[in-house]
Amino acid sequence: MTIHQTAKGTRYLTAPRVEVLAHTKRVRARDHLPIISPGAFAFSNDFIEEMGFGDSYVGDALDNPLPPGTELAKFAGQLCYLSLGEQRTKNAQAQQYIDHIKASGHGSVLEHVSATVLLWGVSRALTHELVRHRVGFGFSQVSQRYIAGRHLRFVETPAYQQSAELHNLFADWIDASAEQYQIRESVLLNTMGIGYDTATTEQRKAVRQEARRCLPNETEAPIVVTANVRSWRHFIEQRCSPFADAEICRCAYAVYQALSPLEPMLWSDYTPGPVRPDGLPTLTTPYRKV
Ligand SMILES: Cc1cc2nc3c(=O)[nH]c(=O)nc-3n(C[C@H](O)[C@H](O)[C@H](O)COP(=O)(O)OP(=O)(O)OC[C@H]3O[C@@H](n4cnc5c(N)ncnc54)[C@H](O)[C@@H]3O)c2cc1C
Repeated sequence: MTIHQTAKGTRYLTAPRVEVLAHTKRVRARDHLPIISPGAFAFSNDFIEEMGFGDSYVGDALDNPLPPGTELAKFAGQLCYLSLGEQRTKNAQAQQYIDHIKASGHGSVLEHVSATVLLWGVSRALTHELVRHRVGFGFSQVSQRYIAGRHLRFVETPAYQQSAELHNLFADWIDASAEQYQIRESVLLNTMGIGYDTATTEQRKAVRQEARRCLPNETEAPIVVTANVRSWRHFIEQRCSPFADAEICRCAYAVYQALSPLEPMLWSDYTPGPVRPDGLPTLTTPYRKV
């Protein structure tokens, strides 16, 4: 990603970055199984065999492997009715099974599948909206009380990129914010009678927690986000929509692009919605908020 600079050297980014750090993976199958199979979850092998479903279940998993999260969701859903034997919906019809889960609103089985992403090139305005999603999410965000001024970067949203006048206002504002941050930092250090290099971590934290108050919504706010697929879907449905803020809409679409190839069946119901007046894509589904 290009890191831009204003004429005064203030750094800013113009697009969100999404990196998948972790997602549901299969665990090692028990040693006596022939291969590490998508269907042979270590936690379920003993149970499946005790119940007498071993041959049918493992055989199908070997013949028709599914992505691990999809296999897990299908197993969890089928466990509910002990549909683990010959008569169950086999992996070849997994898409049909997953679609039925979505259509009937049994979204809890999607909660077993999770993904962790790192977002950067996103603003504090975006993350303030992101952290409003309470259910099924975990967040870890760069602390403005710990970060030093030299790590400060800002984010320019699409509207500002498309207008020279708005872009100049943005550049002036982030220059002024970065400068103001530095001035406040020096005044605070002087007031506390300490030097930057000799200050303890606690003293620096005390300085930065006050200096940061001048930082705008446009300040970059990198964040690690973990959520299960049910929650990710709800986030994307709300934010990749004609009604959402442009920056978070673009970010939600990028999250969808990063996650959907990992478990295509869990996302296959999403189709392009109307393109927004600002040119951003949206997504729509017949199975909202499963
Ligand atoms: C276009 C748009 C505009 C917005 N504008 C504003 C605004 O102006 N001001 C503002 O404050 N917020 C605003 N929001 C944020 C919005 O109100 C929600 O806080 C946010 O979208 C998270 O949605 P959620 O509560 O459904 O998700 P989550 O918090 O992830 O919850 C998921 C689901 O769990 C259930 N749930 C969660 N908590 C509870 C609870 N306490 N009680 C009962 N059920 C619960 C609900 O069914 C909920 O949909 C806006 C959101 C959007 C998409």
